[in-house]
Amino acid sequence: MAGTLFVVATPIGNLEDITLRALRILGEVDLIACEDTRHTGKLLAHYQISTPTSSYHEHNEHQRTGWLVERLESGMDIALVSDAGTPSISDPGYRLVRAALERGFHVSPIPGPCAIISALSISGRPTDSFAFLGFLPGRRTARRTRLRALRSESRTLLFFESPLRLASTLSDIDEILNSQEVTVAREMTKLHEQLVTGSAAELASLFRSRRPRGEAVVVVEKASSEPEAAESLSDRELDRRIQGLVHQGLSKKEAIKKLAKQLASPKRELYLRLLREKKIVDGKQ
Ligand code: SAM
Repeated sequence: MAGTLFVVATPIGNLEDITLRALRILGEVDLIACEDTRHTGKLLAHYQISTPTSSYHEHNEHQRTGWLVERLESGMDIALVSDAGTPSISDPGYRLVRAALERGFHVSPIPGPCAIISALSISGRPTDSFAFLGFLPGRRTARRTRLRALRSESRTLLFFESPLRLASTLSDIDEILNSQEVTVAREMTKLHEQLVTGSAAELASLFRSRRPRGEAVVVVEKASSEPEAAESLSDRELDRRIQGLVHQGLSKKEAIKKLAKQLASPKRELYLRLLREKKIVDGKQ
């Protein structure tokens, strides 16, 4: 009988983030195809799994795919893992999965951690519709061109970014996408996990002054091309938004200024309206 290819998600930091099923499958298969055998070796040693491993990475994907498919043909079950998270998501694996499917082998997901979904789930940004753009080009001109192509995009956008380029990418996002709110999820599930939110300009200057370490996902909430009119919002909704900003650490004055900017409404007008509705006297309604 032909073998099965299991696509197994592994931790993105904390070694405890692995499912019971993933551990069982890693222990039961005949071979584990790893992005980096030494890296995965540490995970396997931690869980006392002694299944043989073989390397499968971007530089040998072409040759290795045929070799692994032959093993499936001979009846071996294979688990595919990457260094972290879900294989084939901005990681090696796509070619092998495709080749296995084309030859009619069963390909089965063993779901688990994924940096994109983890960042989205804690971002507080709209999740009903989002677009994942992978890594933006490293070269500034190409990056800016890619961002320009996203100007009319209204979905929440997610990018991977290296700490080295985080500040300049955020500056470009500020300038080109006119995004109002950005979240950077850094080192998720690790010791120095950090979630920061603010305007792209604020976060660009934060990371310029203190260069971050480690891995990061950037979540961008796109401004709609037509800014909302303050008049279209109920008093209750206005108040809810102000309180939300205050909870993020802004003073009431800063919150009003920021909301006025988001709504493209003159600050004074918004202030007067809130005052009229007694929304800003001591923060009480
Ligand atoms: N396949 C992986 C997944 O499902 O999460 C993604 C692989 S991609 C090559 C690696 C990128 O994911 C990193 O450069 C970083 O942007 C992001 N990433 C991975 N682990 C992360 C973590 N613990 N915290 C924040 N970002 C992370």
